[in-house]
Amino acid sequence: MEYRINRRTNDTISVLGLGTGSLPAGDEGVRILEAAVEGGINYFDLAAAESTTFTTFGRALAGVRGKVRYQVHFGALYGPGKSYAWTLNPDKIRASVDWQLAELKTDYIDYGFIHCLDEEQDWQKYQKNGVLRYLLDLKDQGVVHHVGFSTHTPKVANLILDEDVADMMLFSINAAYDYQHGEFAHGSGSERMALYQRCSAMGVGISVMKPFSGGQLLSDKTSPFGRALSTWQCLQYVLDKPAVLSVMAGAGSLAQLHNLLGFFEASAEERDYSLIASLTPGDLLGRCVYCNHCQPCPADIDVGLVNKYYDLARAGDELAVDHYRTLGVRADSCMQCGHCNMRCPFHTDQMARMREIEAWFASRKA
Ligand code: SF4
Ligand code: SF4
Repeated sequence: MEYRINRRTNDTISVLGLGTGSLPAGDEGVRILEAAVEGGINYFDLAAAESTTFTTFGRALAGVRGKVRYQVHFGALYGPGKSYAWTLNPDKIRASVDWQLAELKTDYIDYGFIHCLDEEQDWQKYQKNGVLRYLLDLKDQGVVHHVGFSTHTPKVANLILDEDVADMMLFSINAAYDYQHGEFAHGSGSERMALYQRCSAMGVGISVMKPFSGGQLLSDKTSPFGRALSTWQCLQYVLDKPAVLSVMAGAGSLAQLHNLLGFFEASAEERDYSLIASLTPGDLLGRCVYCNHCQPCPADIDVGLVNKYYDLARAGDELAVDHYRTLGVRADSCMQCGHCNMRCPFHTDQMARMREIEAWFASRKA
């Protein structure tokens, strides 16, 4: 397992988390959760499809509660015998949160989430009708440790970020949505990338939902790229995006969980997702996506990382400036050999980028 740090909360979070939409009820669900923790997963999203999921979590993880972190959603309705429903009703949300805590056998929530707001008026209502106040009061009381929010739309995400109340954002990211294909492909590719960069600059971590576009990317028949991507390619794509801390992948069986965990043993070739380049949208064409398909660089430059730090630094992320300066090999080592330009499937003029990056950092005082 690999871990990343949420800069605002200092939490250490596994890059592979677990979504719960497909978690089976009963003993099989318990076995999957126990195996997930054994595999190093410590981050769980609780926007479940069925209320039974909370009972399963209580059975499986109450004994290791201190080692795991939960995203609990204020606006997702659960209760005995109920399937998931969305609401902005404050009384129903209070009752649902109380019920979830009891089933989870816990008295605290690691990340209390403003749940799934995709319309501007829903965010206004959430603030006016007392739900946000309820969430923030629970934070003041220590019941909720940190606040997060979930949305599918960059516009609403930016409105919530403006309030600076959240330490984590749950957002739908995959190659299909970023390339304008699929149900939740909201915002242009540039707008979406700017959102990830803004989160990074603010230190807000991103946990990712729908990494496989609801399975669309995993099939030759439904992938917009004409060929299926593997789960590992999809995970690598998401983990290359700025500010991403953890991917909430679903596991409906132990075999699926073991396949996800196989990511950490996979080779660079098995993770390489450059086949998506054939459909790069116009506004993203020529932009580095940090995939490192152009490696190896004869000067030993980590081309993807150098480009990521540069983009983040220009977006106002001061930490990225420091990270760049501490790299062992930077853009000034580029020999202009042209290997990356020939290899880049996204048509990035990386030779020019290296010159630009070197000049930009040289022009800033250390
Ligand atoms: S230059 Fe191209 S191949 Fe290299 S990291 Fe960037 S996008 Fe990937
Ligand atoms: S042009 Fe520069 S960055 Fe690209 S492969 Fe050659 S040395 Fe590496």
